[in-house]
Amino acid sequence: MAEKRRVRVRFAPSPTGALHIGGVRTALYNYLFARHNGGDFILRIEDTDSQRFVPGAEAYIIESLKWCGIKTDEGVEQGGPHAPYRQSERKEIYLKYALQLVENGSAYYAFDSADELNALRKEYEAEGKTFAYNYEVREKLQTSLNLSAEEVKSRIDRGDQWVIRFKMPENENVEMDDIIRGHISINSSTLDDKVLYKSADQLPTYHLANIVDDHLMEISHVIRGEEWLPSLPLHYLLYRAFGWTDTQPQFAHLPLLLKPQGQGKLSKRDGDKFGFPVFPLDWHPEEGEPAKGYREEGYFPQAFINMLALLGWNPGTEQEIFSMDELIEAFSLEKVSKSGARFSPDKAKWFNQQYMKKADDAMLGKQLLEMLAKDGINTTEERATKAVSLIKERATFPCDLLPLTRYFFVAPDKYDEKSVQKVWKADNKVLLEKLREKLVAEPELTEATEQKIHEWILSEQLSMGQMMNAFRLAVLGISQGPSVFAIAEFIGKEETLKRIDALINNIPTK
Ligand code: GLU
Repeated sequence: MAEKRRVRVRFAPSPTGALHIGGVRTALYNYLFARHNGGDFILRIEDTDSQRFVPGAEAYIIESLKWCGIKTDEGVEQGGPHAPYRQSERKEIYLKYALQLVENGSAYYAFDSADELNALRKEYEAEGKTFAYNYEVREKLQTSLNLSAEEVKSRIDRGDQWVIRFKMPENENVEMDDIIRGHISINSSTLDDKVLYKSADQLPTYHLANIVDDHLMEISHVIRGEEWLPSLPLHYLLYRAFGWTDTQPQFAHLPLLLKPQGQGKLSKRDGDKFGFPVFPLDWHPEEGEPAKGYREEGYFPQAFINMLALLGWNPGTEQEIFSMDELIEAFSLEKVSKSGARFSPDKAKWFNQQYMKKADDAMLGKQLLEMLAKDGINTTEERATKAVSLIKERATFPCDLLPLTRYFFVAPDKYDEKSVQKVWKADNKVLLEKLREKLVAEPELTEATEQKIHEWILSEQLSMGQMMNAFRLAVLGISQGPSVFAIAEFIGKEETLKRIDALINNIPTK
């Protein structure tokens, strides 16, 4: 029996800007697949398109993966057996392979200049047609299929610029398999002759570098976005042209991330419009517009990857909350859907809320302490942590903790107008005076006081809702919040009485 091939996958972004969350999801699925199968996850930087290179983008990609907890086994940072992992540093490798294809008849030299091609494009347009560099025209243009061997050699020797193009077979059905999409067949006559290598910058194009590197790096599975599906026939044919079909990777093209409303790919513009980030981290490019990130918006990385994992993959159960280890355990490409996954900003927040509930009080307490200090409120880490434990169920982001707990530390300086409108009644003053009397008699306020007070309210036939709303308004300045007795215990009896007095003496006007 043939030995099972080691699983080796790669995330191969081009450093052309901030990494879109769709890209993070591609990296995540690659990582989950590698870990699930005990294989390797590689980070390769595809930077052969110098015109689209953006400074800082590679560092951004690396930092994003780190923040998400996606660990690479080999790559630009730590190196590995197939180093270098940055294609611009592998420049020397590719020409040999391009020439191999020219020699075996799968590719050819083309000498047409950009101006000549533009002129041709215009001519075609004038006749209502679209120009494609393909089997119909390649033998009529300036190519090694058409020119004599001497002519080709002399043009190259005198320094004319050339490219090497793939000679797309004519009228062949290319049969392909995709783990997610099943069998795909396409007629090669619909495809053009892509450039593989350019003499101008002595660099391969994406297609050549990608196939050569996947082969040399022994990649077993290519898991990438749906936008690469149109390139699949060319990639299949390149493997065949090189004679590498036996070790060709298996392919899986992931569904698109769709806009919250309607069709189409989730874009930065949707994010700007609806106020949610489409990038993992804040992005401050040297040129162009900055963008917001999930990290800086207060998302927990665990919530972020949990949300992303479920955009396009489903575990086949009702479970929604997954740790990274649980994702690794449950993940399979077979359960990735073919159709696009609609992004929901509300669901993203919901995930964060779930992780907020699970977050460590002490960790959040430290953050709250800092926020309070910035707001001029000094307390101890212990009290901040306690405040967190009382309120975190109501928070979505750590930054919500400050407004939610402010009045745990300082008496309200005003009463929330809406609350006053809603809950204030003329006889509230009398009620508060009665309550005050009752509380004074307690040795201290604890959560157990709640039971007692409730019983008293019932026995006196007073309105529970009215009393509690007035009490909460006195203590917190607002008519919503956690158990008012828990807050009373937190601020202490003396402070609670002071706040009741303040409201009694300062009856709000509606
Ligand atoms: N460099 C390509 C990208 O930017 C990689 C596509 C692939 O994974 O083959 O997404």
